[in-house]
Amino acid sequence: MISDRVRQMAPSQTLELNSKIAQLRKEGKSIIALNSGEPDFNTPQPIIEAAYQAMLEGKTKYTQTPGIPELREAIARKLSDENKIDYSIDEILVSTGAKYALTNTFLVLCNPGDEVIIPTPCWVSYVEMVKLAGALPVLVPVCEDNHLDLKAIDKAISSKTKVILINSPNNPTGAVYSQDSLMAVAELAVRHELYIVTDEVYEKLIYGTTPHVSMASFSPGIKERTVTINAFSKAYAMTGWRLGYAAGPKQVIKGISAIQGHTTSNATSFAQWAAIAALESCGAYVEEMRQAFEKRRDYLYGRVSSLPGIRCPYPDGAFYLFPDVSELFGRRRGDRVIHDAPALADYLLDEAGVALVPGNAFEAPQAIRFTYSNSMEKLNEAMDRIERAVGKLF
Ligand code: PMP
Ligand code: GLU
Repeated sequence: MISDRVRQMAPSQTLELNSKIAQLRKEGKSIIALNSGEPDFNTPQPIIEAAYQAMLEGKTKYTQTPGIPELREAIARKLSDENKIDYSIDEILVSTGAKYALTNTFLVLCNPGDEVIIPTPCWVSYVEMVKLAGALPVLVPVCEDNHLDLKAIDKAISSKTKVILINSPNNPTGAVYSQDSLMAVAELAVRHELYIVTDEVYEKLIYGTTPHVSMASFSPGIKERTVTINAFSKAYAMTGWRLGYAAGPKQVIKGISAIQGHTTSNATSFAQWAAIAALESCGAYVEEMRQAFEKRRDYLYGRVSSLPGIRCPYPDGAFYLFPDVSELFGRRRGDRVIHDAPALADYLLDEAGVALVPGNAFEAPQAIRFTYSNSMEKLNEAMDRIERAVGKLF
């Protein structure tokens, strides 16, 4: 009945848990959700006001498929000023979240059987997006310090490789890759005539000293083979608005636009108008949220790394901690055995009422993911509960 394509697709583990949490809360259980990575702040007011104004002005109709020119021009200015990449507006397309821009990028770049190199741990949806395009995800683990293993990437390149996918700052590790390592990946792409897809949705959420650099800004010959993906979701607390964009070679953007024209037509009209206000007048809001995330990172890192049996790398960006919990595997509480990360996540949900995502979702079965996009009070309460629950395993 159901197509093979969908039968082989695993549902998104970062989102799926939300229905279970809703059910548990309906049953009266107190659940702290540290599963889904989205800012807990509301969207900054100027953005909301711009959307309302746009609706009042009747900007409630279909737009051009790749997005309103005014927003694409604002994105082009942003990419030029902040990311040092010069794009014309026909090299930019606005889409329903970064998710849809990414999915369509793989559909445009890949023929069935092509290979896409994905450094792991990686965000949950990449593998399914690549498979949906009929391509093959080739997973290449990062080094112990969560940075790119350039030799392993080089070794993974075959005659079928079409794309190298890079995500920095990284979900789930929080690693921010150095300019040198990104340049080395770019050189590989040029040498082997590959595309780079660079997912930069967490670019504004950096706490360490390694700055964000956009791969398409490297010269020469990189921009022509790079698709830059970004979104309003994380930086501007606009996850529900579903607004992202792709910037890349004209032919690729035209291809994405063709798919979009047949499948969603365009991103929501008034959300697009509001996004101009985000880019042009909300820098201070973004910085305020970044500072709050940094405080939470420091707090949660301190608490998580002092848990027994847990080794936690220090993240420099995004809003996740991704500790190795494999020392807890095999421990038990009564009849319950913590075989693996999913069993640990289930145990912490039942025993502590805290929802986390097992590392299996990110191709890293030894780990579990915490998001610190939640209030200090909630993080404190969640860690008190987790401490008690983990303590019972010893
Ligand atoms: N890329 C990464 C690395 C993400 O974590 C997410 C999660 N939202 C996305 C892309 C998708 O972003 P959007 O919500 O804009 O579709
Ligand atoms: N990207 C966020 C996460 O990893 C939100 C959920 C999703 O889109 O996967 O939790």
